[in-house]
Amino acid sequence: MEKEIIKKGCWLVIEPYVFIFKGKNEYVLYNTLSNKMLQFDVENNAFVADILEQLTLVENLYSIEISENDCKTISFKQFVSDLRDGFFGDVYSKELYEYHPISLPPLLKVKNSIKNINKNVEQQDDNTFLNFFHELSVYLNGTCTYGCKLCTKYYKQIPFCCKSKSEFDKNELDNLFDLISHSPHLIILNIFGGDILKYNLLEYFLDKIEELSHSIEINIFLFYKACNNHFSYQLLNEHHVNVHILFPINNFDNEDITHILSICSNFENAFWDFVCQNENEYNNCINFAESHGLEKYDILPFYEENADFFKKYVFITKDDLLNSDNSKRNIFIKQQLNSFFYGKLVITTDKLVFDCINGHNVGTLGDDIVDLIKKCVNEESVWFLTRNKMKPCCDCAFQYLCPPPSNYEAVIGKPNLCNIMP
Ligand code: SF4
Ligand code: SF4
Repeated sequence: MEKEIIKKGCWLVIEPYVFIFKGKNEYVLYNTLSNKMLQFDVENNAFVADILEQLTLVENLYSIEISENDCKTISFKQFVSDLRDGFFGDVYSKELYEYHPISLPPLLKVKNSIKNINKNVEQQDDNTFLNFFHELSVYLNGTCTYGCKLCTKYYKQIPFCCKSKSEFDKNELDNLFDLISHSPHLIILNIFGGDILKYNLLEYFLDKIEELSHSIEINIFLFYKACNNHFSYQLLNEHHVNVHILFPINNFDNEDITHILSICSNFENAFWDFVCQNENEYNNCINFAESHGLEKYDILPFYEENADFFKKYVFITKDDLLNSDNSKRNIFIKQQLNSFFYGKLVITTDKLVFDCINGHNVGTLGDDIVDLIKKCVNEESVWFLTRNKMKPCCDCAFQYLCPPPSNYEAVIGKPNLCNIMP
């Protein structure tokens, strides 16, 4: 470190694109431009921890004064060297810079926060609430002749069909259409069965959706064996539907597949959603996709007594965090809401409305859409389930770098699917 800085003391300044996160036992500095991070264990770095504590005080504006004596210490020199190496911050001579420098810490100020909205709820118009709602998943029928062993479990973890006893009659379908037509910001509609191709009113419903004044992306989810219906591609192509072909790889029946592949090639927009439960199946999914020339596919892990597989392939590691898109904007989002669930409603064949498939029942079909959304716009809803609200994540310095809690956490019953704080 330069002599004049040591001699007179200095200003230590952190860059505005750097976050300082505080956990129970450590601090993490995260550079949003380079995705680099620095970690400081509080117990072994009391001196640095004290500096970081001061830097996190908003009134200090990411800049503090360091005395001449402190500048001379090895700990401080090492700290500055680490900061400079990763472009986290720097020191400035007090001789050259007489006044306290300013750097703006990355803090999000939300004018229309849910707290503000709920405080003045009677002053809000319907559009304030309708603005939140952008995706709907609906289970229209429950009929299905297939016998998947995990039928009642798949849909709780991943987008999947599920058998049930009820279905939407025409009147209820009209109510559903009414809800959709009064939701001007709804842009994605996910349609599930049972075997949805066995639902008699599917064409009627798709025709009605087409009448809407705003366009909606429609995704239909079909079990791969159910795609053996020649009429389906005509109907779904006519309505420009995205077809998700659900394919649990352990259910693979070699004889069926050539026929199914030939039908699926007729879908204008087909996406293959493979489901795997272990490493072997994971490799089989990739081999299957490659050998059949499938380009648009996803591999969805499914949890069922396969903890080792999940620990190895799904649990978050520090490398995952460093390789994720943790831009300033994305961290702000993670501080405010749960991007897996936010703005989404689920309606079951029983006509019950949920804030997510494993979440709260917020009403029934027929309730006013604004009232349904109001029940989701509060801190208890999964829409706003952030990691700072759950143990042990609330004590972890990585809480805003990790993806938000998803359906996997809910089903497995473990809030932190990670190898960082096991
Ligand atoms: S195809 Fe879907 S609805 Fe039918 S049994 Fe399998 S998981 Fe259940
Ligand atoms: S899942 Fe929770 S405990 Fe694990 S690293 Fe992320 S925030 Fe920390």
